[in-house]
Amino acid sequence: MTSNPTPASQATGSAATTATTTSTVKAAADSFASLPLPPATLDNLKRLGYEVMTPIQAAALPLALAGADLIAQAKTGSGKTAAFALALLANLNVRRFAVQALVLCPTRELADQVTQEVRRLARAEDHIKVLTLCGGVTMRPQLASLEHGAHIVVGTPGRIMDHLERGSLNLEALNTLVLDEADRMLDMGFFDDITTVAKQCPKQRQTLLFSATYPEGITKLAAAFMREPKQVTLVERHAASKIRQRFYEVKEDERLHAVSQLLNHYRPVSTLAFCNTKLQCRWLVDVLRGQGFIAHELHGDLDQRERDQVLVQFANGSCSVLVATDIAARGLDIAQLEAVINVDITPDAATHTHRIGRTGRVDAEGWAFSLASMDEMGRVGQIEHELKFVAEWHKLAELTPTSKDKLLPPMATLQILGGRKEKIRAGDVLGALTKDMGFAGSQIGKISVNEFSTYVAVDRESAPLALKKLSAGKVKGKSVKVRMLES
Ligand code: ADP
Ligand code: MG
Repeated sequence: MTSNPTPASQATGSAATTATTTSTVKAAADSFASLPLPPATLDNLKRLGYEVMTPIQAAALPLALAGADLIAQAKTGSGKTAAFALALLANLNVRRFAVQALVLCPTRELADQVTQEVRRLARAEDHIKVLTLCGGVTMRPQLASLEHGAHIVVGTPGRIMDHLERGSLNLEALNTLVLDEADRMLDMGFFDDITTVAKQCPKQRQTLLFSATYPEGITKLAAAFMREPKQVTLVERHAASKIRQRFYEVKEDERLHAVSQLLNHYRPVSTLAFCNTKLQCRWLVDVLRGQGFIAHELHGDLDQRERDQVLVQFANGSCSVLVATDIAARGLDIAQLEAVINVDITPDAATHTHRIGRTGRVDAEGWAFSLASMDEMGRVGQIEHELKFVAEWHKLAELTPTSKDKLLPPMATLQILGGRKEKIRAGDVLGALTKDMGFAGSQIGKISVNEFSTYVAVDRESAPLALKKLSAGKVKGKSVKVRMLES
Protein backbone atom coordinates (compact mmCIF):
# COMPACT_ATOMS: atom_id res chain seq x y z
CA MET A 1 0.00 0.00 0.00
CA THR A 2 1.34 3.37 -0.93
CA SER A 3 -1.51 5.40 0.47
CA ASN A 4 -0.91 7.35 3.64
CA PRO A 5 -2.76 6.41 6.76
CA THR A 6 -5.07 9.20 7.82
CA PRO A 7 -6.87 9.76 11.11
CA ALA A 8 -9.91 8.29 9.43
CA SER A 9 -8.28 4.94 9.09
CA GLN A 10 -6.91 2.77 11.75
CA ALA A 11 -5.13 -0.49 11.61
CA THR A 12 -4.92 -3.04 14.35
CA GLY A 13 -2.79 -6.06 15.04
CA SER A 14 0.85 -6.63 14.32
CA ALA A 15 0.46 -7.71 10.73
CA ALA A 16 -1.90 -4.89 9.99
CA THR A 17 -2.18 -2.93 6.82
CA THR A 18 -3.38 0.62 6.86
CA ALA A 19 -5.51 2.13 4.18
CA THR A 20 -6.89 5.55 3.71
CA THR A 21 -10.62 5.94 3.44
CA THR A 22 -10.68 9.62 2.58
CA SER A 23 -8.36 9.74 -0.37
CA THR A 24 -9.59 12.43 -2.75
CA VAL A 25 -7.03 11.87 -5.46
CA LYS A 26 -7.54 8.68 -7.41
CA ALA A 27 -4.10 7.27 -6.90
CA ALA A 28 -2.86 4.64 -9.30
CA ALA A 29 -2.75 2.23 -6.38
CA ASP A 30 -6.56 2.35 -6.34
CA SER A 31 -6.82 1.07 -9.88
CA PHE A 32 -7.65 -2.60 -10.38
CA ALA A 33 -4.97 -2.55 -13.06
CA SER A 34 -2.35 -2.38 -10.29
CA LEU A 35 -3.34 -5.94 -9.31
CA PRO A 36 -2.03 -9.14 -10.86
CA LEU A 37 -5.32 -9.87 -12.63
CA PRO A 38 -5.84 -11.23 -16.16
CA PRO A 39 -6.82 -8.65 -18.82
CA ALA A 40 -10.22 -10.31 -19.31
CA THR A 41 -11.00 -9.79 -15.62
CA LEU A 42 -9.93 -6.14 -15.81
CA ASP A 43 -12.16 -5.64 -18.86
CA ASN A 44 -15.07 -7.24 -17.09
CA LEU A 45 -14.57 -4.98 -14.05
CA LYS A 46 -14.71 -1.97 -16.35
CA ARG A 47 -17.88 -3.27 -17.91
CA LEU A 48 -19.38 -3.59 -14.43
CA GLY A 49 -18.53 0.04 -13.79
CA TYR A 50 -15.91 -0.76 -11.18
CA GLU A 51 -13.52 2.08 -11.98
CA VAL A 52 -11.41 2.08 -8.85
CA MET A 53 -11.06 -0.22 -5.89
CA THR A 54 -12.97 0.60 -2.75
CA PRO A 55 -10.65 1.16 0.25
CA ILE A 56 -11.17 -2.36 1.62
CA GLN A 57 -10.48 -3.83 -1.81
CA ALA A 58 -7.32 -1.74 -2.15
CA ALA A 59 -6.18 -2.95 1.26
CA ALA A 60 -7.22 -6.59 1.01
CA LEU A 61 -6.72 -7.61 -2.60
CA PRO A 62 -2.92 -7.31 -2.87
CA LEU A 63 -2.57 -9.55 0.20
CA ALA A 64 -5.29 -11.98 -0.82
CA LEU A 65 -3.96 -12.33 -4.38
CA ALA A 66 -0.54 -13.02 -2.91
CA GLY A 67 -2.09 -16.01 -1.18
CA ALA A 68 -2.22 -14.80 2.41
CA ASP A 69 -4.90 -15.73 4.91
CA LEU A 70 -6.83 -12.60 5.73
CA ILE A 71 -9.07 -11.12 8.38
CA ALA A 72 -10.73 -8.11 6.80
CA GLN A 73 -13.05 -5.77 8.58
CA ALA A 74 -15.01 -2.97 6.94
CA LYS A 75 -18.52 -1.65 7.17
CA THR A 76 -21.47 -2.94 5.17
CA GLY A 77 -21.56 -1.67 1.61
CA SER A 78 -17.81 -1.24 1.30
CA GLY A 79 -17.32 -3.84 -1.41
CA LYS A 80 -16.12 -6.83 0.60
CA THR A 81 -17.71 -9.37 -1.74
CA ALA A 82 -15.51 -8.45 -4.70
CA ALA A 83 -12.50 -8.41 -2.38
CA PHE A 84 -12.84 -12.13 -1.70
CA ALA A 85 -14.50 -13.08 -4.98
CA LEU A 86 -11.58 -11.87 -7.09
CA ALA A 87 -9.20 -13.78 -4.83
CA LEU A 88 -11.09 -17.06 -5.03
CA LEU A 89 -11.49 -16.69 -8.78
CA ALA A 90 -7.74 -16.17 -9.10
CA ASN A 91 -7.21 -19.49 -7.32
CA LEU A 92 -9.62 -21.29 -9.60
CA ASN A 93 -8.66 -23.77 -12.28
CA VAL A 94 -11.70 -23.76 -14.57
CA ARG A 95 -10.69 -26.96 -16.32
CA ARG A 96 -10.74 -28.81 -13.05
CA PHE A 97 -14.42 -29.51 -12.52
CA ALA A 98 -14.55 -29.80 -8.73
CA VAL A 99 -15.48 -27.53 -5.84
CA GLN A 100 -12.43 -25.32 -5.31
CA ALA A 101 -13.96 -22.51 -3.30
CA LEU A 102 -16.53 -22.45 -0.51
CA VAL A 103 -18.12 -19.27 0.82
CA LEU A 104 -20.03 -19.51 4.09
CA CYS A 105 -22.70 -16.86 4.67
CA PRO A 106 -25.11 -16.36 7.59
CA THR A 107 -28.39 -16.28 5.65
CA ARG A 108 -29.89 -17.37 2.40
CA GLU A 109 -30.43 -13.86 1.15
CA LEU A 110 -26.81 -12.95 1.77
CA ALA A 111 -25.73 -16.16 0.06
CA ASP A 112 -27.91 -15.21 -2.93
CA GLN A 113 -26.32 -11.75 -3.04
CA VAL A 114 -22.83 -13.24 -2.90
CA THR A 115 -23.66 -15.79 -5.61
CA GLN A 116 -24.89 -13.02 -7.90
CA GLU A 117 -21.79 -10.90 -7.35
CA VAL A 118 -19.45 -13.87 -7.85
CA ARG A 119 -21.27 -14.72 -11.09
CA ARG A 120 -20.93 -11.14 -12.33
CA LEU A 121 -17.23 -11.12 -11.54
CA ALA A 122 -16.74 -14.58 -13.05
CA ARG A 123 -18.19 -13.52 -16.39
CA ALA A 124 -14.70 -12.85 -17.71
CA GLU A 125 -14.23 -16.60 -17.98
CA ASP A 126 -16.61 -19.03 -19.54
CA HIS A 127 -18.32 -21.83 -17.76
CA ILE A 128 -17.58 -21.10 -14.13
CA LYS A 129 -20.31 -22.80 -12.16
CA VAL A 130 -21.46 -21.26 -8.91
CA LEU A 131 -23.93 -23.16 -6.75
CA THR A 132 -25.91 -21.87 -3.75
CA LEU A 133 -26.65 -24.34 -0.96
CA CYS A 134 -28.88 -22.99 1.80
CA GLY A 135 -31.40 -24.37 4.22
CA GLY A 136 -35.12 -23.73 3.98
CA VAL A 137 -35.43 -25.49 0.65
CA THR A 138 -35.65 -29.17 -0.15
CA MET A 139 -32.50 -31.23 -0.55
CA ARG A 140 -33.40 -32.98 -3.79
CA PRO A 141 -32.65 -30.19 -6.32
CA GLN A 142 -29.44 -29.39 -4.45
CA LEU A 143 -28.33 -33.01 -4.65
CA ALA A 144 -29.07 -33.02 -8.37
CA SER A 145 -27.09 -29.81 -8.89
CA LEU A 146 -24.18 -31.20 -6.90
CA GLU A 147 -24.15 -34.26 -9.11
CA HIS A 148 -23.74 -31.96 -12.10
CA GLY A 149 -20.76 -30.42 -10.34
CA ALA A 150 -19.69 -26.87 -9.48
CA HIS A 151 -16.52 -24.83 -9.13
CA ILE A 152 -17.72 -22.58 -6.35
CA VAL A 153 -20.23 -23.24 -3.59
CA VAL A 154 -21.90 -20.49 -1.57
CA GLY A 155 -24.02 -21.54 1.37
CA THR A 156 -25.11 -21.37 4.97
CA PRO A 157 -23.13 -23.39 7.55
CA GLY A 158 -25.99 -25.69 8.57
CA ARG A 159 -26.84 -26.83 5.07
CA ILE A 160 -23.19 -27.20 4.09
CA MET A 161 -22.77 -29.47 7.14
CA ASP A 162 -25.76 -31.53 6.02
CA HIS A 163 -24.20 -32.07 2.63
CA LEU A 164 -20.84 -32.96 4.12
CA GLU A 165 -22.49 -35.51 6.40
CA ARG A 166 -24.37 -37.07 3.49
CA GLY A 167 -21.24 -37.13 1.42
CA SER A 168 -22.95 -35.16 -1.33
CA LEU A 169 -20.40 -32.34 -1.13
CA ASN A 170 -16.77 -33.16 -1.66
CA LEU A 171 -14.18 -30.59 -0.60
CA GLU A 172 -11.01 -32.47 -1.49
CA ALA A 173 -10.16 -30.05 -4.30
CA LEU A 174 -10.91 -26.93 -2.26
CA ASN A 175 -8.27 -24.21 -2.22
CA THR A 176 -10.18 -21.20 -0.87
CA LEU A 177 -12.46 -21.02 2.15
CA VAL A 178 -14.29 -17.75 2.74
CA LEU A 179 -16.26 -16.74 5.83
CA ASP A 180 -18.43 -13.81 4.88
CA GLU A 181 -20.18 -11.75 7.57
CA ALA A 182 -18.31 -13.76 10.15
CA ASP A 183 -19.56 -11.56 13.00
CA ARG A 184 -23.14 -12.27 12.09
CA MET A 185 -22.52 -16.00 11.76
CA LEU A 186 -21.10 -15.91 15.28
CA ASP A 187 -24.15 -13.99 16.53
CA MET A 188 -26.29 -16.73 15.05
CA GLY A 189 -24.41 -19.42 16.92
CA PHE A 190 -22.55 -20.96 13.99
CA PHE A 191 -19.14 -21.14 15.69
CA ASP A 192 -19.10 -24.94 15.97
CA ASP A 193 -20.55 -25.50 12.52
CA ILE A 194 -17.93 -23.25 10.96
CA THR A 195 -15.05 -25.00 12.68
CA THR A 196 -16.46 -28.39 11.71
CA VAL A 197 -16.68 -27.36 8.07
CA ALA A 198 -13.19 -25.85 8.17
CA LYS A 199 -11.80 -29.10 9.55
CA GLN A 200 -13.10 -30.95 6.51
CA CYS A 201 -11.29 -28.63 4.11
CA PRO A 202 -7.79 -29.49 2.92
CA LYS A 203 -5.10 -28.04 5.22
CA GLN A 204 -3.32 -26.56 2.24
CA ARG A 205 -5.67 -23.70 1.41
CA GLN A 206 -6.30 -20.00 1.71
CA THR A 207 -8.81 -18.80 4.29
CA LEU A 208 -10.41 -15.37 4.02
CA LEU A 209 -12.57 -13.99 6.80
CA PHE A 210 -14.72 -10.91 6.24
CA SER A 211 -16.67 -9.06 8.86
CA ALA A 212 -18.33 -5.70 9.49
CA THR A 213 -17.41 -5.66 13.17
CA TYR A 214 -14.76 -7.37 15.22
CA PRO A 215 -16.21 -9.24 18.19
CA GLU A 216 -14.02 -11.49 20.34
CA GLY A 217 -15.19 -14.68 18.66
CA ILE A 218 -13.35 -13.69 15.48
CA THR A 219 -9.98 -14.07 17.14
CA LYS A 220 -11.07 -17.49 18.37
CA LEU A 221 -12.18 -18.53 14.89
CA ALA A 222 -8.92 -17.33 13.41
CA ALA A 223 -6.90 -19.16 16.02
CA ALA A 224 -8.85 -22.36 15.35
CA PHE A 225 -8.06 -22.69 11.66
CA MET A 226 -6.31 -19.76 9.99
CA ARG A 227 -2.63 -19.61 9.17
CA GLU A 228 -0.83 -16.44 10.24
CA PRO A 229 -3.67 -14.29 9.00
CA LYS A 230 -2.95 -10.74 7.93
CA GLN A 231 -5.37 -8.27 9.32
CA VAL A 232 -6.94 -5.40 7.42
CA THR A 233 -9.18 -3.07 9.37
CA LEU A 234 -10.93 -0.03 7.99
CA VAL A 235 -12.48 1.89 10.82
CA GLU A 236 -14.15 4.78 9.12
CA ARG A 237 -15.34 8.00 10.45
CA HIS A 238 -18.09 8.94 8.12
CA ALA A 239 -17.64 12.15 6.25
CA ALA A 240 -19.30 14.66 8.52
CA SER A 241 -20.86 16.46 5.58
CA LYS A 242 -22.72 13.39 4.42
CA ILE A 243 -24.34 12.34 7.66
CA ARG A 244 -26.08 14.96 9.71
CA GLN A 245 -26.46 13.73 13.26
CA ARG A 246 -28.93 15.17 15.72
CA PHE A 247 -29.60 14.11 19.28
CA TYR A 248 -32.89 14.57 21.14
CA GLU A 249 -33.37 14.18 24.84
CA VAL A 250 -36.52 12.21 25.61
CA LYS A 251 -38.31 10.94 28.67
CA GLU A 252 -38.95 7.23 28.57
CA ASP A 253 -42.67 7.73 27.87
CA GLU A 254 -41.94 10.12 24.99
CA ARG A 255 -39.52 7.89 23.13
CA LEU A 256 -41.77 5.99 20.72
CA HIS A 257 -43.92 9.00 19.97
CA ALA A 258 -40.76 11.00 19.27
CA VAL A 259 -40.11 8.67 16.33
CA SER A 260 -43.34 9.70 14.65
CA GLN A 261 -42.56 13.36 15.44
CA LEU A 262 -39.24 12.94 13.62
CA LEU A 263 -40.98 11.30 10.66
CA ASN A 264 -43.64 14.01 10.42
CA HIS A 265 -41.07 16.76 10.68
CA TYR A 266 -38.32 15.53 8.35
CA ARG A 267 -40.55 13.33 6.16
CA PRO A 268 -37.83 10.92 4.99
CA VAL A 269 -38.92 8.54 2.24
CA SER A 270 -37.15 5.62 3.85
CA THR A 271 -35.99 5.22 7.42
CA LEU A 272 -34.24 2.45 9.28
CA ALA A 273 -35.10 2.59 12.98
CA PHE A 274 -32.83 0.68 15.38
CA CYS A 275 -34.01 -0.57 18.75
CA ASN A 276 -31.90 -2.40 21.29
CA THR A 277 -34.47 -5.14 21.85
CA LYS A 278 -37.02 -7.11 19.87
CA LEU A 279 -39.74 -6.07 22.26
CA GLN A 280 -39.02 -2.40 21.66
CA CYS A 281 -39.20 -3.09 17.90
CA ARG A 282 -42.64 -4.58 18.30
CA TRP A 283 -43.90 -1.68 20.40
CA LEU A 284 -42.57 0.85 17.94
CA VAL A 285 -44.18 -0.84 14.95
CA ASP A 286 -47.49 -0.91 16.82
CA VAL A 287 -47.27 2.80 17.63
CA LEU A 288 -46.27 3.77 14.09
CA ARG A 289 -48.95 1.67 12.44
CA GLY A 290 -51.50 3.03 14.88
CA GLN A 291 -50.66 6.46 13.52
CA GLY A 292 -51.03 5.41 9.90
CA PHE A 293 -47.38 4.98 8.96
CA ILE A 294 -46.34 2.06 6.81
CA ALA A 295 -43.81 0.35 9.01
CA HIS A 296 -42.47 -3.18 9.10
CA GLU A 297 -40.42 -5.07 11.60
CA LEU A 298 -37.44 -7.16 10.62
CA HIS A 299 -36.79 -9.80 13.24
CA GLY A 300 -35.47 -13.30 13.62
CA ASP A 301 -38.87 -14.93 14.01
CA LEU A 302 -39.92 -14.11 10.46
CA ASP A 303 -39.70 -17.03 8.10
CA GLN A 304 -37.68 -16.58 4.94
CA ARG A 305 -40.68 -15.69 2.78
CA GLU A 306 -41.89 -13.01 5.21
CA ARG A 307 -38.40 -11.59 5.50
CA ASP A 308 -38.03 -11.44 1.72
CA GLN A 309 -41.36 -9.64 1.47
CA VAL A 310 -40.45 -7.04 4.07
CA LEU A 311 -37.11 -6.37 2.41
CA VAL A 312 -38.60 -6.17 -1.06
CA GLN A 313 -41.18 -3.66 0.14
CA PHE A 314 -38.57 -1.54 1.85
CA ALA A 315 -36.17 -1.62 -1.09
CA ASN A 316 -38.82 -0.76 -3.68
CA GLY A 317 -40.22 2.24 -1.83
CA SER A 318 -43.46 0.82 -0.47
CA CYS A 319 -42.54 0.80 3.20
CA SER A 320 -41.54 4.02 4.99
CA VAL A 321 -39.95 2.60 8.09
CA LEU A 322 -38.06 -0.61 8.71
CA VAL A 323 -37.70 -1.33 12.42
CA ALA A 324 -34.91 -3.69 13.43
CA THR A 325 -32.41 -4.77 16.04
CA ASP A 326 -28.74 -4.62 15.14
CA ILE A 327 -28.59 -8.35 14.59
CA ALA A 328 -31.60 -8.43 12.27
CA ALA A 329 -30.23 -5.56 10.17
CA ARG A 330 -26.66 -6.80 9.88
CA GLY A 331 -25.44 -7.30 6.36
CA LEU A 332 -28.38 -5.75 4.56
CA ASP A 333 -27.28 -3.85 1.51
CA ILE A 334 -29.90 -1.15 1.40
CA ALA A 335 -29.28 1.75 -0.89
CA GLN A 336 -30.89 5.16 -0.63
CA LEU A 337 -31.70 5.35 3.00
CA GLU A 338 -32.59 8.89 3.95
CA ALA A 339 -32.62 8.52 7.69
CA VAL A 340 -31.51 6.30 10.50
CA ILE A 341 -33.14 6.65 13.89
CA ASN A 342 -31.50 5.33 17.01
CA VAL A 343 -34.63 4.73 19.00
CA ASP A 344 -32.41 3.55 21.86
CA ILE A 345 -28.78 4.48 22.32
CA THR A 346 -26.53 1.49 21.84
CA PRO A 347 -24.04 0.79 24.62
CA ASP A 348 -21.33 0.36 22.00
CA ALA A 349 -19.72 3.16 19.96
CA ALA A 350 -18.76 0.83 17.10
CA THR A 351 -22.39 -0.24 16.76
CA HIS A 352 -23.45 3.42 16.72
CA THR A 353 -21.05 4.11 13.85
CA HIS A 354 -22.27 1.06 12.04
CA ARG A 355 -25.92 2.08 12.46
CA ILE A 356 -25.53 5.64 11.24
CA GLY A 357 -23.28 4.49 8.40
CA ARG A 358 -26.40 3.02 6.81
CA THR A 359 -27.50 6.48 5.77
CA GLY A 360 -25.72 8.98 3.55
CA ARG A 361 -24.19 6.35 1.32
CA VAL A 362 -22.65 7.02 -2.04
CA ASP A 363 -23.51 10.58 -3.09
CA ALA A 364 -26.61 11.00 -0.98
CA GLU A 365 -26.79 12.93 2.25
CA GLY A 366 -28.46 11.31 5.20
CA TRP A 367 -29.91 12.05 8.58
CA ALA A 368 -29.02 10.17 11.74
CA PHE A 369 -31.27 10.91 14.71
CA SER A 370 -30.69 9.60 18.20
CA LEU A 371 -33.15 9.59 21.07
CA ALA A 372 -31.54 9.58 24.49
CA SER A 373 -33.03 9.50 27.97
CA MET A 374 -31.22 10.80 31.05
CA ASP A 375 -30.19 7.21 31.77
CA GLU A 376 -28.47 7.01 28.40
CA MET A 377 -26.39 10.18 28.70
CA GLY A 378 -23.38 8.16 29.82
CA ARG A 379 -23.58 6.12 26.64
CA VAL A 380 -23.81 9.26 24.52
CA GLY A 381 -20.74 10.63 26.32
CA GLN A 382 -18.87 7.42 25.61
CA ILE A 383 -19.82 7.56 21.92
CA GLU A 384 -18.70 11.21 21.71
CA HIS A 385 -15.44 10.30 23.35
CA GLU A 386 -14.71 7.27 21.18
CA LEU A 387 -15.83 8.80 17.90
CA LYS A 388 -14.35 12.19 18.74
CA PHE A 389 -17.27 14.42 18.00
CA VAL A 390 -19.60 16.64 19.97
CA ALA A 391 -23.27 15.71 19.88
CA GLU A 392 -25.60 18.36 18.51
CA TRP A 393 -28.65 18.50 20.78
CA HIS A 394 -32.09 19.57 19.66
CA LYS A 395 -35.43 19.86 21.42
CA LEU A 396 -38.39 17.62 20.74
CA ALA A 397 -40.53 20.76 20.66
CA GLU A 398 -38.82 21.75 17.40
CA LEU A 399 -40.34 18.72 15.73
CA THR A 400 -43.51 20.21 14.32
CA PRO A 401 -45.28 18.54 11.38
CA THR A 402 -44.16 20.11 8.12
CA SER A 403 -47.10 18.92 6.01
CA LYS A 404 -50.80 18.26 6.51
CA ASP A 405 -50.54 15.06 4.48
CA LYS A 406 -49.78 11.72 6.05
CA LEU A 407 -46.26 10.49 5.32
CA LEU A 408 -46.78 7.60 2.94
CA PRO A 409 -44.29 5.72 0.79
CA PRO A 410 -44.38 6.59 -2.92
CA MET A 411 -45.06 3.03 -4.06
CA ALA A 412 -47.20 0.00 -3.20
CA THR A 413 -46.30 -3.63 -3.86
CA LEU A 414 -48.31 -6.13 -5.87
CA GLN A 415 -47.46 -9.77 -5.41
CA ILE A 416 -47.95 -12.05 -8.38
CA LEU A 417 -48.12 -15.72 -7.39
CA GLY A 418 -45.55 -17.14 -9.77
CA GLY A 419 -41.85 -16.48 -10.13
CA ARG A 420 -38.68 -18.01 -11.50
CA LYS A 421 -40.22 -21.48 -11.20
CA GLU A 422 -42.90 -20.37 -13.67
CA LYS A 423 -40.23 -18.71 -15.81
CA ILE A 424 -41.67 -15.25 -15.25
CA ARG A 425 -39.21 -12.47 -16.01
CA ALA A 426 -39.33 -8.83 -15.01
CA GLY A 427 -39.70 -7.86 -18.68
CA ASP A 428 -42.87 -9.97 -19.02
CA VAL A 429 -44.54 -8.14 -16.16
CA LEU A 430 -43.37 -4.72 -17.30
CA GLY A 431 -44.57 -5.51 -20.81
CA ALA A 432 -48.01 -6.60 -19.60
CA LEU A 433 -48.43 -3.45 -17.52
CA THR A 434 -47.14 -0.96 -20.07
CA LYS A 435 -48.00 -2.45 -23.47
CA ASP A 436 -51.22 -4.35 -22.68
CA MET A 437 -52.65 -2.40 -19.77
CA GLY A 438 -51.66 1.12 -20.63
CA PHE A 439 -49.50 2.10 -17.68
CA ALA A 440 -46.58 4.46 -18.18
CA GLY A 441 -43.14 3.09 -17.41
CA SER A 442 -42.77 5.85 -14.83
CA GLN A 443 -45.68 4.42 -12.81
CA ILE A 444 -43.91 1.09 -12.40
CA GLY A 445 -41.00 0.68 -10.01
CA LYS A 446 -38.74 -2.19 -9.13
CA ILE A 447 -39.81 -5.66 -10.22
CA SER A 448 -38.29 -8.49 -8.16
CA VAL A 449 -38.69 -12.03 -9.38
CA ASN A 450 -38.22 -14.56 -6.59
CA GLU A 451 -38.51 -18.30 -6.84
CA PHE A 452 -42.26 -18.55 -6.38
CA SER A 453 -43.43 -14.93 -6.40
CA THR A 454 -42.92 -11.75 -8.34
CA TYR A 455 -43.14 -8.40 -6.57
CA VAL A 456 -44.02 -5.31 -8.56
CA ALA A 457 -43.75 -1.82 -7.15
CA VAL A 458 -46.43 0.43 -8.56
CA ASP A 459 -46.97 4.09 -7.97
CA ARG A 460 -49.20 4.18 -4.86
CA GLU A 461 -52.12 5.92 -6.55
CA SER A 462 -52.13 3.61 -9.56
CA ALA A 463 -51.75 0.43 -7.53
CA PRO A 464 -55.44 -0.45 -7.09
CA LEU A 465 -56.05 -0.11 -10.84
CA ALA A 466 -52.90 -2.11 -11.64
CA LEU A 467 -54.16 -4.83 -9.29
CA LYS A 468 -57.50 -4.94 -11.08
CA LYS A 469 -56.02 -4.98 -14.56
CA LEU A 470 -53.36 -7.58 -13.74
CA SER A 471 -55.95 -9.84 -12.09
CA ALA A 472 -58.20 -9.61 -15.16
CA GLY A 473 -55.38 -9.72 -17.72
CA LYS A 474 -52.53 -12.00 -18.61
CA VAL A 475 -48.79 -12.25 -18.09
CA LYS A 476 -46.94 -14.30 -20.70
CA GLY A 477 -50.30 -15.41 -22.06
CA LYS A 478 -51.47 -16.82 -18.73
CA SER A 479 -53.85 -15.47 -16.12
CA VAL A 480 -52.16 -14.81 -12.81
CA LYS A 481 -53.19 -14.51 -9.19
CA VAL A 482 -52.28 -11.09 -7.81
CA ARG A 483 -52.69 -9.39 -4.46
CA MET A 484 -51.67 -6.12 -2.90
CA LEU A 485 -49.30 -6.65 -0.01
CA GLU A 486 -50.72 -5.66 3.32
CA SER A 487 -49.19 -2.41 4.34
P1 ADP B 1 -20.18 -5.43 1.64
O1 ADP B 1 -20.07 -6.91 1.46
O2 ADP B 1 -18.95 -4.80 2.15
O3 ADP B 1 -21.39 -5.04 2.44
P2 ADP B 1 -20.78 -5.44 -1.17
O4 ADP B 1 -19.73 -6.36 -1.61
O5 ADP B 1 -22.17 -5.98 -1.06
O6 ADP B 1 -20.40 -4.75 0.20
O7 ADP B 1 -20.75 -4.18 -2.17
C1 ADP B 1 -21.66 -3.10 -2.09
C2 ADP B 1 -21.97 -2.57 -3.47
O8 ADP B 1 -20.84 -1.94 -4.05
C3 ADP B 1 -22.39 -3.65 -4.45
O9 ADP B 1 -23.53 -3.19 -5.15
C4 ADP B 1 -21.20 -3.81 -5.37
O10 ADP B 1 -21.60 -4.23 -6.67
C5 ADP B 1 -20.61 -2.42 -5.38
N1 ADP B 1 -19.13 -2.39 -5.60
C6 ADP B 1 -18.21 -3.20 -5.04
N2 ADP B 1 -16.97 -2.87 -5.43
C7 ADP B 1 -17.09 -1.80 -6.24
C8 ADP B 1 -16.14 -0.97 -6.96
N3 ADP B 1 -14.83 -1.18 -6.90
N4 ADP B 1 -16.64 0.04 -7.71
C9 ADP B 1 -17.97 0.26 -7.77
N5 ADP B 1 -18.91 -0.46 -7.12
C10 ADP B 1 -18.48 -1.49 -6.35
MG1 MG C 1 -21.07 -8.47 2.33
